[in-house]
Amino acid sequence: MEENQCVFCQIVSGTIKSSVIYQDENLVGILDINPATMGHVILLPRTHYSSLYEMPQNLSLGFFNVARVIGYSLLISMGATNVDLIYSQELRSGNFTPHALIHIIPRYKDDNVNYAWQPNTMSEEDIKMVSQAVIGAIDKIRNQEAPAPATPVQQTRPAPAPVVKPVQSQPEPNKEEKLLELKKKIVVF
Ligand SMILES: [Zn+2]
Repeated sequence: MEENQCVFCQIVSGTIKSSVIYQDENLVGILDINPATMGHVILLPRTHYSSLYEMPQNLSLGFFNVARVIGYSLLISMGATNVDLIYSQELRSGNFTPHALIHIIPRYKDDNVNYAWQPNTMSEEDIKMVSQAVIGAIDKIRNQEAPAPATPVQQTRPAPAPVVKPVQSQPEPNKEEKLLELKKKIVVF
């Protein structure tokens, strides 16, 4: 997508008006015009990145740090009881958001905001496999991104997650099949 077609780039440049509540050389925070709750903020990098994973490390650190500050400011200014930080490119029912952003949503008692999912269970074997896959992927990314330290740093690698007793359940067949399909895609580095 051309940057000038991106609605969020147009917000950053001021072509589309918005209520700016935060800005620095890299980031702009605006009030969402269709807020989930009162005080819902969208934090955007000024530069167009289509995903968080394209952003340079330093910018992503600043991104989450500013989200933390804005989140806390919503707690103390809006009387919110909690704040949700959501990084998503498809938060709004399938509307693809091409510009990496963080939603900062203050939460209030009885605010009717729901992030619903059905809790699943995992076998001991699956927990081990998933832990190994994720831990391996984190190592791989860190090795790719981190500049080599002058003196070797002692790496502490987390032990695979402690095994929680799996709850016995009889999943529906299609649910089981879906799980098998998902498991086939897991990569252990
Ligand atoms: Zn953009």
